[in-house]
Amino acid sequence: MHIFWVPNHADHITQGEIKDGILRAPFEHPGRIDGALGAMKAAGLPRPLEAPEVGIEPILAVHDVGYIGFLNEAWPRWRAEGRTGDIVPLVWPGRGMRHDTRPLTIDGKIGHYCFDAGTPICRDSWDISYASAQCAVAAADRAAAGEHAFAMTRPPGHHAMRAGYGGYCFVNNAAVAAERMIAEGCERVAVLDVDYHHGNGTQSIFYERADVLVVNIHADPIEEYPYYLGHSDEQGDGKGFGANVNLPLAKGSGWGTYRHALDTAISTIRSFEADALVVSFGADTYEDDPLGTFTLGTNHIGMIADAIAGLRLPSAIILEGGYATDALGDNIAAFLTPFA
Ligand SMILES: [Zn+2]
Repeated sequence: MHIFWVPNHADHITQGEIKDGILRAPFEHPGRIDGALGAMKAAGLPRPLEAPEVGIEPILAVHDVGYIGFLNEAWPRWRAEGRTGDIVPLVWPGRGMRHDTRPLTIDGKIGHYCFDAGTPICRDSWDISYASAQCAVAAADRAAAGEHAFAMTRPPGHHAMRAGYGGYCFVNNAAVAAERMIAEGCERVAVLDVDYHHGNGTQSIFYERADVLVVNIHADPIEEYPYYLGHSDEQGDGKGFGANVNLPLAKGSGWGTYRHALDTAISTIRSFEADALVVSFGADTYEDDPLGTFTLGTNHIGMIADAIAGLRLPSAIILEGGYATDALGDNIAAFLTPFA
């Protein structure tokens, strides 16, 4: 087991987020990672290492070049307009408006690429997202070599689309990892997303691909974020038909319901005969998570990992959500221990 992290991840720190109509302290904050390190060390997990930098190419393999250019230049352009707060969108191309224009001003560009109001950009958001993606690449390289690795990424990634951001996510670390495994010689890669929320970005990036299976277990988007993707009738398209599996669960689901979906996910991945696995691990399925409603305990999170590790596939585990900061270290440790 290898663990990669970004030592200066705390440079990505936003002033607040709008939730329930209130501007409040962000749920996705540096304390998530810094608070987890102690519990991970106590559990005997290896010390996190900085990932080697391999450049932008693995990111551009799954993201639109114009979108990545936007992320890179958004903050300087925002500041040049005299803005002092975080970057927050003002307007979106809603139903009936045009999506094919390319606005010249920063507010127009933000609305073009952003899909929610809860994902501010601060000065170092791009740099830290870039560095987090390097962790995903390092974990993928270890998995492609037959080992397990954990990318302790922050900000998370699974909501980021090929050309769009939201849900605290800018670069889709799980997609970067899966595509990297293919580039490193894996013929078939499975992605299992066990975050509480549907990984809309990962699904959409691989939706027409037959060589990457994407399986999601998540709160039903009919009643939970991200609402507009993640339903059970989304099965992939073209060559990718059948290689996308959504297992939405009702809000408030507990272990009995979850275990049933997990069994389905595991047998689906086994039938796919993947060479390697990417796990989008979010601990927001935890019972006390402020953004989740499932009732899983830390023991159940360990049991999810037991079942996944039972696939005996080299695995790149990518950190997604998990906002019960006090318990996050224990939940990460419970999840990684079966792989360690
Ligand atoms: Zn989540």
